Formats: sequence, structure tokens, C-alpha cells
Amino acid sequence: MEEKRALGLYVHIPFCKSKCVYCDFYSLPHSEEKMDAYADALRAQLRAFAPRAADHRVDSVYFGGGTPSYFGAARLCALLKTIFDLYDVTPDAEITLEANPESARSVDALHALRTAGFNRISLGMQSADDDELRAIGRIHTNAQTAQAVACARQAGFSNLSLDLIYGLPTQTSERWRKNLSAAIALAPEHLSCYGLKVEPGTPLYAIREQAQLPDDEAQADMYLETVETLARSGYPQYEISNFARPGRESRHNLKYWTLGEYLGFGPGAHSDFGGRRFAWARDLDAFLAGEIERSEDSVIAPRSRAAEYLMLGLRTTRGIRAEDCALPFGPAEKVLRECGQHGLAECAGERWRLTPQGFLVSNAVIVRVLEAMDL
Ligand code: SF4
Repeated sequence: MEEKRALGLYVHIPFCKSKCVYCDFYSLPHSEEKMDAYADALRAQLRAFAPRAADHRVDSVYFGGGTPSYFGAARLCALLKTIFDLYDVTPDAEITLEANPESARSVDALHALRTAGFNRISLGMQSADDDELRAIGRIHTNAQTAQAVACARQAGFSNLSLDLIYGLPTQTSERWRKNLSAAIALAPEHLSCYGLKVEPGTPLYAIREQAQLPDDEAQADMYLETVETLARSGYPQYEISNFARPGRESRHNLKYWTLGEYLGFGPGAHSDFGGRRFAWARDLDAFLAGEIERSEDSVIAPRSRAAEYLMLGLRTTRGIRAEDCALPFGPAEKVLRECGQHGLAECAGERWRLTPQGFLVSNAVIVRVLEAMDL
């Protein structure tokens, strides 16, 4: 019998208690009254796609947002049960819940989630400094992060990730170093460290000139120090912004970078499934009315798949190799060899990957590689 293909499921929860000033994710504050209807609409969408995924086995499920923990344990547990009922979820599937420390401090609720099948929790710590947290509109404190970690451990979560942001308003290297140390002291299995991006349309963008943001050079120094510090502390880098204890890399997120198949549910969610790439419009009301449309939908042509392989593979420390590239690899290798002379790329065995210095300018390197490949 042919083996079933692996599949990841992403469930988008677009609710937050309030909006952070830097956020351009699809998340809506003050919409609690829509949560029950949203759970019903998600169930309908999960049901509609289940027959199409019958020849797949689900080895990762990711509830992201928004703030899934704010959606409430009862709704989350019920939705996960729907997934178990409708999809072939493997016994060892990685099942992640994103959580805000402020709404993940009840051992009972976390225990209910753990019992329902969630086995990984990703906490949005962002900073260990309460002034920094306030400045970006986060509603939690550093003490609440520590409480959330303790509660998650008590509830039985042995796979825990922390998200941090560097380059925050007024942040110095010294303060970032303290944040990183505070996160390491909480002994997570996984860390994601993102540089702050000031996205047009966000409140932070409007005040960017007065926000005392660290400049590009300062952010670059923070990044390089992060890679080194985390490697020394037992968290080797495996993707531009992601670090993990060996064996604790996020299986779900790796699907995005290694061209695995995934299905996304809810407004704004993206899918790469059955050779098509599609996304649902960012429109909660249309979703609730069962009238959501696709904001993009295309068959993935072999050349764009090859471009994705190069682009996404160069985000990871596993890198890329000729054997896995659908097109002649020579032109890409020539660019990477040149980058290697400047310390931006390196060849390990037959694989090419970017160095931490190279990750800092990954967009420019990837553009050069794609141009050389005529993609
Ligand atoms: S908690 Fe996350 S999704 Fe919600 S507003 Fe803040 S950054 Fe955006």
C-alpha cells in the first residue's frame, strides 16, 4: 500500500485582547462575541477539506494567531477533537498552541489543553523588560511570562518555545543581552528571535521617527550576538530566526521551509497543498458567513517550485544542494561560491548554506541566486 503523504494543519485564531503597535498580522481586538461563531466556521472549513486530505497523515498541527490562548481552552480542545475526528493524525504529531503569557497562567486550563493533545506551547515573551513590553503595546509583564512557563511545565508541556524581538524602541545591546539571558534562564526547548520590522500601516510606523529605534547596524550586532550566545547555550541555529535544542526544531515550521504540504484554516491562512498554493482572504465576517474567498490561488509551476526551493532552503542552516534542485545548479553555486569568499556562504559536504553574516543579507543573496538561475 502506498504510504500516506505527510501534512501540516495550521488553524488561525484572529483574536487578540488588544493590538500591539508593531503588529500587521490578521488579528482583531474586541471581537470576543464572535468567538463561538468562529469556532463553528472553522469546524465547517475543517470538515469541507477533510475528504481531500484523506490520503495524507497529519504529523503537525499549529494553532497560531492572533492569540489562540485568548480563544479559551474549551474552544481549543473542541477544535482539536474535531481535527482528530476528521483527519488521520499520527500518534507522535507535534501539536502547537501559540499563547500570550497573560492568558496562559491557569494550570487547570493548560492541563486541559495538554490532556486534549496539545504537546507544544509557544509563548510570546518578546522582552524581559516591562518598559519595552509597554512601549510596543504588549499586555503582559515579564513576571507573567515566568508564571506562564511555570504553569505550562506544571501542566505537562515538555516542549516549550519562547518568542523574542530584538531592535525594540530604545533598546540597547546591553538590554537585549539581558533579555536573551532571561529567556535562556527559563530553559525553553526552542527560541525564535525576530528583528523588529516597522511595517507600514502600523501605529509604530506612524511614530517611527520618535521611537528611538536601534539602527540597522545595531540590529545586525544584536543578531550576530544572538546566534553566538544561543549556540554556546545549547541552542544551535536551524533557520534565520529559529534556534532549538537538538531534536526540538519545530516540525511544523520546517514544513514551510522545506516545501512540505500544509493546509491553513481561517481568514488569512495560507496553504500549499496538492501542487496548489492558496490563501483565504483576511475577512472575518465573510468567513463567519461561510462566504470566504481565496485571495490567491495558483498551480505551482515547476520553475516557481525550484525558486521556492532555493529561497526557502537558504533560510535554513541545512541549506540547499544540487541533487534536490529541479534545475541545473551551476549558476546558483557560482554565486554562492562568490558569497563564500566574503564569508556570507559556506559549503558543508554537498550542501550550500548561508553563514550568520550571510543571513543578515539573505534577501540580497537570494535575489542574486535567483537572477543567476534566470528565475
Ligand atoms: S498578540 Fe500577536 S497577533 Fe496579537 S496584536 Fe500582538 S503581535 Fe499581533
